[in-house]
Amino acid sequence: MVKLTDFQIAFSGLKLGNHLFDFQIEDTFFQLFDYAELNSGQINTIILLQKKSNMLELEFQIKGSVTLACDTCTEDYIQSIEGNYKQIVKFSDLVEPEEIDEIIILPTKEHKLEFAHQLYEYIHLSLPIRRIHADKADCNQEMLEKIEELAYQEPEVVDPRWSALQNLKK
Ligand SMILES: [Zn+2]
Repeated sequence: MVKLTDFQIAFSGLKLGNHLFDFQIEDTFFQLFDYAELNSGQINTIILLQKKSNMLELEFQIKGSVTLACDTCTEDYIQSIEGNYKQIVKFSDLVEPEEIDEIIILPTKEHKLEFAHQLYEYIHLSLPIRRIHADKADCNQEMLEKIEELAYQEPEVVDPRWSALQNLKK
């Protein structure tokens, strides 16, 4: 079982300069979050960390695929995703630990950075607005027919002039 602590970088022991980390996201990663939309995916995450004397600069490069429901036919499909996100970590004991846009503030005694939530957010930011099978031929045809049938079953709007004629007949 994966834990949130599997996704952390102990930065205090690192030398100043650039460091590279590689994390593989599997389906189990999504079980860490109480969210129904995503529950399956394989995503390679590379984190470039630049340690400076008073802060950390991170760049998250994510690339892989997730399972989404197609907006057209409702069936699951594999969506490839890719994204680049920057994060700055600063240290201060004067303010409460917090996250403002791209900046995270940690207490000066902190020695590790947990990033599972950030990563989860980045994966969501990388999702397309339109979620559909790349090729319409891959859509579930049976489901498309059903959706079309349902659309035809909607009550027809009666032309008011026609109703007026019907009333005259009576
Ligand atoms: Zn589809």
